[in-house]
Amino acid sequence: MRLIFTLLLVILSIIAASAHKNDKCPSSPYFDVAPSDITHAKDLSATELAFHEKYMKIAIDVAVKHNSKFAAAIVHKNGTLMCTGVNIGGSRMYHGEVKAIMNCTDLYKSATWEDHYMYTTGEPCPMCSAAIMWTKFQKVIFASYVSNMYCERCFNQLPMDSNEIFKLGYGINHNIVVIGGVMDNITDTFFPSVCNQAETGWGVTPLCQKGWSRDCPRPSRYFGN
Ligand SMILES: [Zn+2]
Repeated sequence: MRLIFTLLLVILSIIAASAHKNDKCPSSPYFDVAPSDITHAKDLSATELAFHEKYMKIAIDVAVKHNSKFAAAIVHKNGTLMCTGVNIGGSRMYHGEVKAIMNCTDLYKSATWEDHYMYTTGEPCPMCSAAIMWTKFQKVIFASYVSNMYCERCFNQLPMDSNEIFKLGYGINHNIVVIGGVMDNITDTFFPSVCNQAETGWGVTPLCQKGWSRDCPRPSRYFGN
């Protein structure tokens, strides 16, 4: 009887100790950071906007030429066009940005792109955002916002703002400048609403927050959360 009682005490003390230990645990092992900053095209100086529009136009022209919605151009910060990429299928992971990185890597045998800018017709998805971060681009400039494509037009997207991925740059010691909405007046026409075709083709029924519109402030460190 005494043995059973002792065993019971030991078991209870182990349970109590583990419960106490869990109380001290954070909800995640990682530091909680706000989404990285993002600058919108409307807030750029006229000179900077003109610079970025020049190269976004190249990405747009590549998309149109290949009857695609998604294309990208990699440009040195001195204005030298290095290569382009376009999503024409072959694999669901051959997004415009990934294809551009693959093309440039083949051409120049460079693993990273520290002094380069990535121009892309659509905001990078989580896969491309991670690829852009790992390959150490200095800036990423995109046209159409994921939130507009997904919440407003019902276009299938992984529903996450790219600066939710770019905020993680602290883990690889690399932070990227993010600029959105450059020439989205043109690229948004690539995404006519498919809300009446939900669940077919490119269409989905978006799960978005009530009250959201494209005029709502985008979460970033600048705006707060
Ligand atoms: Zn992508």
